[in-house]
Formats: sequence, C-alpha cells, structure tokens
Amino acid sequence: MKVLLIRPPVPPQTIGLSNVMICEPLELEYLAAGVDDDEVQILDLIIERGLEKRLREFSPDVVGLSCYITGVNEVIKICRLVKRWNRDCLTVVGGVHASVAPEDFADPSVDSIALGDGTALMPRLLDAWGNGRKLEGLPGIAIPSGEGKVYVTREAPYMTAPDYLPHPRRDLTAHLRHRYYYLFHQPVATMKTTWGCWYDCSFCMTWAVTGGTVFSRSAESIVREIESIKEPEIYIVDDIFLINSPRLREIAHLLRTNGIHKHFLVYGRADYIADNEDVIREWSEVGLRAVIVGLEAATSEELGQVGKKVTADQNRLCVEVLRRNGVDIYASLIPQPWYRRKDWERLYAYIEKLGIYYVNISPLTPLPGSAMFSEYEDRITVPRRAHPLWDLTHVVLPTQDTLKDYYRQLLRLYARTVLSVRRAARLTLRTRPPVWSPKYLRLWMGAVRIFFQFINAHKHHSGKRLERSLDRGPAVPGLDYRGAGLAIVDNQPTMTRRGYSERKPIDPYHGYLFSDQERKPCNGLLDHPLARKWRDVVSWGIRESLYTYQQPYQSKAGPLQVLNGHTYRMISSYDYLGLRGHPAIEKAAHEAIERYGTGTGGVRLLTGSTDLHYELDETIAKFKGVEASLSFSSGYLANLAVISALFRPGDRIVSDARAHRSLSDACKLARVEAVTFPHNDLNRLEDLLRQSRDFRRTLIIVEGVYSMDGDICPLPEIIDLKKKYSCHLMVDEAHSFGCLGATGRGVDEYFGVSAADVDVWMGTLSKAIPSTGGFIAGSMELIIYLQHGSGPFMFSAAASPALVASALEAIEVIQQEPERQVRLRDNAAYLRRHLKQLGYDTGDTESHIIPVILGSDRDAYKFSHALFERGTIALAVVPPAVSPGAARLRICATASYDRDFLEKVVADFAACRTLLSPSVAHGGH
Ligand code: PMP
Repeated sequence: MKVLLIRPPVPPQTIGLSNVMICEPLELEYLAAGVDDDEVQILDLIIERGLEKRLREFSPDVVGLSCYITGVNEVIKICRLVKRWNRDCLTVVGGVHASVAPEDFADPSVDSIALGDGTALMPRLLDAWGNGRKLEGLPGIAIPSGEGKVYVTREAPYMTAPDYLPHPRRDLTAHLRHRYYYLFHQPVATMKTTWGCWYDCSFCMTWAVTGGTVFSRSAESIVREIESIKEPEIYIVDDIFLINSPRLREIAHLLRTNGIHKHFLVYGRADYIADNEDVIREWSEVGLRAVIVGLEAATSEELGQVGKKVTADQNRLCVEVLRRNGVDIYASLIPQPWYRRKDWERLYAYIEKLGIYYVNISPLTPLPGSAMFSEYEDRITVPRRAHPLWDLTHVVLPTQDTLKDYYRQLLRLYARTVLSVRRAARLTLRTRPPVWSPKYLRLWMGAVRIFFQFINAHKHHSGKRLERSLDRGPAVPGLDYRGAGLAIVDNQPTMTRRGYSERKPIDPYHGYLFSDQERKPCNGLLDHPLARKWRDVVSWGIRESLYTYQQPYQSKAGPLQVLNGHTYRMISSYDYLGLRGHPAIEKAAHEAIERYGTGTGGVRLLTGSTDLHYELDETIAKFKGVEASLSFSSGYLANLAVISALFRPGDRIVSDARAHRSLSDACKLARVEAVTFPHNDLNRLEDLLRQSRDFRRTLIIVEGVYSMDGDICPLPEIIDLKKKYSCHLMVDEAHSFGCLGATGRGVDEYFGVSAADVDVWMGTLSKAIPSTGGFIAGSMELIIYLQHGSGPFMFSAAASPALVASALEAIEVIQQEPERQVRLRDNAAYLRRHLKQLGYDTGDTESHIIPVILGSDRDAYKFSHALFERGTIALAVVPPAVSPGAARLRICATASYDRDFLEKVVADFAACRTLLSPSVAHGGH
C-alpha cells in the first residue's frame, strides 16, 4: 500500500516562526518508520510545491497529515483536494491538536483522526483499511460524523515503551535536509527523547495529549540515535529535556565515551537550571549550545498566574548559570492581554536587566486542551475556526489597549530586542555567527519579515482578511461524513470526554517528589540507607513513568477496574473467585451495618465480639473440617498472633524459603530461631529436621499455594516428615483457601489428606473471600489459648461487622456456587498455556497464580508499564519480595474472566513480546 505523508504549508495569515526556523517534519518521519513494507513518501509543503503532481505520479492509497492548530484549515484544504482527485484514497489526520480537539477536523474529506501517538496506530490503520475492515473497530481514532462532531472509538494507550520505537525515517527527507534550520543552527536535525511533561502549566496542552504520563527513552537508546544522525547540530524537541540529572549524566557520559561531538539545542526549566549548575557545566562540555527556556514573565506574581511554579529569582539565576557556562538562552515571554504601555516598558526593562538577546514574545493564548482554555473559552475574540490566527503571536483575548496599540507595543519590543544588531553582538555567547555572515543576515531578514507581518496584524481580526483565515477550500460535492451513521455524537472537546480534565497524575507522589525532592535534603529521621534507596527508586520510577503501585482505583475490584476515569483490564487482583460485587455478599454487609453499626468498639477479648464473629469462627472451622477457628482483623496479624503466642527462644521454626513476610516477622517477634529450607526441597527439610534434637519444639511452616510462584506445597510428604520427626506443622492458606480442592476447602482437600494432620491452619479473608481479615483454625485447645494468650486478639480492635458478615456470606456462596472453582481452574489453565506458548517463563506454577519471570527489576517495571499502556494492569514484583534477578509480573487468574477478556490479555502479552530480552524470550530462566 502506498502512503503519502504531507506537512501542510504555513497559512499566509499566520505570523510565522517559519521566517526564522524550519525543522524537519519529525512526526511524519516517525509515522513513516511505523509503516513496514509499505511504500512511503513525505511531502513537506512548507518548502516543497507540487501536491497535485505528486498525487498523480505517486498515486497514494493513503494520505496522512499532521499539523499544529494553525494548520487545521490547510489540512482540510488538502484533504478536500485529495478527495477530489480520488475518493477512495484514505485521509488520516494526526498531531497534537488533532488529539485534543479532533472535532476541529470534522469534514467529509477527512476519513479518520488519530488520537495520541500515531506511530502505533498507523500500521493498524493500514492493516484495517487494506483488509476492508471498518475503521470504527480501531481503538484511538475519531471519525468525523457531522459539522463539528466526531465519533470517538474506544481509547488506545498513548504509547508502549518508547525505547522500542523505531528511529524516524530521516532518509525520506534526505533531499530537503540542507534546508532545515533553527535560527543559526544549520544543518540541524531534530529528535525526541521524551513524550509528555511532568508539569501542568495552565497555558500548555501537553498534559492533555499524554494524559499526564511521561514516556522517556533510556540513555543508551538516545545515544544510539544521536550516533546515527548526520547533522552536526541536534535540536531536542522534548517539552523539557533538562530534568532528570542521573539520565542527563548518563547521556553525557555515553557521548564522551563514544567520542560523539554534536551541538545541542534543548528545552529546560529555569528552576532546574538554577539549581543544577553542575549538570549544565557537564553538558556545556559535551556540546550544549543553547537552551530554550520559558521565562514567561517578569514578576513572580505573573508567573503564578500561568501556573509556572518558578519564581522571578530562579529565572535570574537560570540566566546567570547559563551565561557562566557559555550557553545561550532563547527565552520565551508571555505578555498578558491586559498589558498597557507601562507593562511593556517593564517587560523590556526586565529583558535588558537579564541581558538576554534571543526572545520570543507570545501573547497569552488559551490553546484548546490547556487548563486555561476552559477558563477563557467564552472571552476569546477570534473565531475558533480562524485557525491561522492561533499562532501564539496574534492576540486572541480582549486587550485593554486597542488592538492596533497592543500590536504596536509588541512590535516596538521586537525592534528594541531581536532586531537590534548591537544587542546581538553584545549579548550572545555561542550560537551567533558574525553579524556580517549570510547566516546572521538571513535571521535578521526573517525577523524583519515578521516585523512587517505585525504591522498589519490588527487587520487580520476582521473583514476580508479574517474570512481568508476561515477558508478551507471548495467542499467536495456529494461526499458525506464517514461517521455520519455512527452513534455517540457530541461536540464536547475530547479531552473532557476522555477524562483528561481531571488533570490527575497516575501516581500519588508526583507533585510531592517533583516540587521538593531536588531541594529538600532528607531530614535525620530518614537518614537511613533503606529510606534513601526507596526514595531514589520511587522518584526514578515516577520520572520514567514506570511507577504503577498505589494507584487510586475508582471502582470495585474485579476484571475491569477504573483508574483516572479509564477502564483497565485487571490481572493482578486477588479476587480469585470473582466474588467482589456479589449481590448476596453486599446485602449481608449492608444488613450487618444496619444491625451492628460500623465499628465494634473494642478488642475481641473485651467488647468487640458480636454473635457474627462467633458465627464466622464456627463456619470457618466447619468448612475447614477442624474443631475450632478464630478470626483476626488481618491475615498478617493472625500469623503474628499464633507464632508469637506459641513459640519462644529455645524452640525452632523451619520454613520454606519463599514463605510470606508476615511469617518471618512473626518469628522475629517470638525471638525464636528461624531457619529456611530451599523452596519445596524436602531433602533439605529432612536434613534440618534430623538436627532437631537440641530444640524444645520444631514447627514446620509451608504455604498451600505460594504467593509469588503459584506452585503448591507437597503436603502429604510434609505430613509424613512431621510425623517421622515428631514436630508440628503450620500451613498458610492465604492463596489456597477457597481455591484449591474440588469444593475450595484448601490444600488438604486437593491432596485428600486429613485436616487434622496439620496443627495450625491459617488463612486470609481478603483474597478468595471478598472481605478483610484472617483466621487461625485447629484444635479447640489451641483456639482457647489464642483467645487469652495472643497479642492481636487481645490488643487490636475486632474486625467491623460488615467485614465479618461479608466473609460469612462468601463462605456460604462458595458452597452454593461450585462452578466458580471450575471457572477459576479453566481460566488459570488457559492463561498458563497461552503464556507458555508465547515463550514466557512462568516458572513452576500449577495454580491460579501465574508469574511471568522477566529478570531485572527494570525489565519488570517496563513490561508492566507497556501492558498498562495497552490497558492491562499486571503489577511488577521485585526484590525483596522475590529473589534478586527474578523480578516478575504476578498474574492472577480469577473466575470472572470471560473468553473475550482472556483473549485480549493474551493479545497484549503477544504484542509486548518484543520487550523480552533474548535470554528470557528463549526460556532463559
Ligand atoms: N500470608 C500470605 C501467604 C499472604 O500472601 C498474605 C497477604 N498477601 C498474608 C499472609 C497476609 O494476609 P492479609 O493481607 O490478610 O493481612
């Protein structure tokens, strides 16, 4: 299939930065890179001509276009022309503005609008189109359905792992590359290392595009691309490049060790630069020439108004740091619409005081997709459709001065700053060539052209000139909106529909770590290696967008969970039997609240036990087939309770090396000697038991199903050993209670052994049972002792009646609905089989817990993130929860997955297979 990717020309009314810079169409080069095996061309109409000729000669099947807000009408003009040439040619529109305001592209000539990152979408789109499938079946697109209306398909993840994006196809613009430049940087290549931004300045819409998530490439991947670039100058077009010191140091180190010499132009924030002179120095040494900094305003008050979170003092320090290190600053400033003569004078005085030459002055513009847009929407003075005027140079808000005066002041500021050759000679450091050189002359001429555009800018706001800004070319007769018959049509801005307006980061510490972390030293209380390690790991994870823990879910636990307004497939939940949300269980909880209230008002020994608590204890004992049982407010406490009450120094505990943390903590509390045997290794267990003579008593501890591995303890053999060496046995059934055995009674039922052969049974009420709490079950003698001799029973509040009632009802439901066991086993078998077939290392699992062992922590985090981006949540488990080098995703099958759900999960794992390192892909573990 032939694909023509087009960059639209700059509309004549747009006051153009294109007079002083024209960079390569990087987004089209990225799109081209995602189009395997297809014939692709790029037509850059900012510098090339001949669209019709190219259509005739190349005869594309698909035309793709990308633009900023100013280019919307030009894009529609081109789509109309394409459709007049050939109605069967598919037109696809994308880019930042298309993602936040797809309704702006609603025209019958536009077949589809890509939302988010188009690199992943393009191959899917071509595949669907080539095979005659309907576009509305594809996620992540909008289809025009009427005037100002679009049909939005289900959401697609913004991006998977950015390290695995192919390099942009720069070869497709080889014939134009000598013409691309940025001010004096020529020839210049652009590149991207990060998508999204950590900050949410109110005038910017980057936040809405990626939904608040940041996608960063690793240092190695960045340096590999830099090495492949021929141009000596590289403009890194990330929203912020100077932010993550360890990553910046790593890149600088790799540039040095690989002997790479390039000049760099990047974006940075004033607060970071002010605080990190050492990083700036290092980067100056490896080729940093200039930094584009949004200084935005002269006073802290104005900076606050635009949500910049930087002070005027930090702006000043930033300029000083850059100057000391010989790096030029290209500053942007945002004059407010209320500016009068004195305010312009103050801005000029500020620029003079800072001693900066390069300034870009953009009147405050509430771009669609920015937080500011909704605030100012009803005050905008130019029609939304007059896209060429949304160039950050025309003023689109009501001004205090007349329009003509406003522009005159702006012009005057330009004349006194950028057009002043004297200032240039005095104030630039590394980037300005001699003032008599052609390069300088060209820039100066460009600035002069901008100057002349400004002279007439006030006339663009009305009459014929405004009409020209609204022009979209002649409509195509008889062409209907592709999405005309599709349901769900409205013209709300997409960002509100898709939940972006919540502006909530996906991790809970985002604001805290980014506002304070760099500056506030750890106070003494946390001056501890482990605290420092976790702080580093957490802030790294958040910076790299790999932190998926502690998310604030907004729905019931279950196969589909809502997070930040988006629905995800959840495959790491303990809801093994799918009982969360069961109507009978919820009803029991409601009734318990009505009858007993919300809290018990005491510990179980004193006033906290209700008849429900005793009913639960009896029901568990009966279900487990033992004399008695006792419930606690968590499983963790149940383990602490029983071990600390029964054992003391002089006794010994021999546990499986993979037993739960609550069990080892319990041993510490009992101050009892604790040893471990290698996981499920009965020979080593027996070796240890043989040496038991010196100890008063020995307790063996195993788990029914191991929580990180999903394998099952060989209970019959362990019972034999316990009997042979006259010791005691405890089984933690956190993950097997309700799940193993024909009727879910646990690991004893699974093996057909007697429950009485185990001295202490422990289970939780928070996994297969949809409540919270834990229990110990065994002999009546044991339970009576625990009621009077275990700390958590006597000194910690009893579980609330609603929790007890839901656990009680759940045990009833398990017995009434045995089909849940069957579905759980079938679903677990399906996932185990398919993941193995895809080449994943799932260890020795035999149960509903399925590890996907990936090796390094970073691989596990990245993999989890890639699945998250596809809409599936599978959490990474890293050391100390598992042994070093065995980091994994921990997947849980549940009875509530249906076939469609399972197929989607397997498809996600199939799509992410490319992330596997070769050793893992070939079954290395
Ligand atoms: N034992 C094991 C094996 C567990 O996995 C857990 C919880 N993950 C517990 C005990 C503690 O149970 P709870 O969450 O009810 O405190």
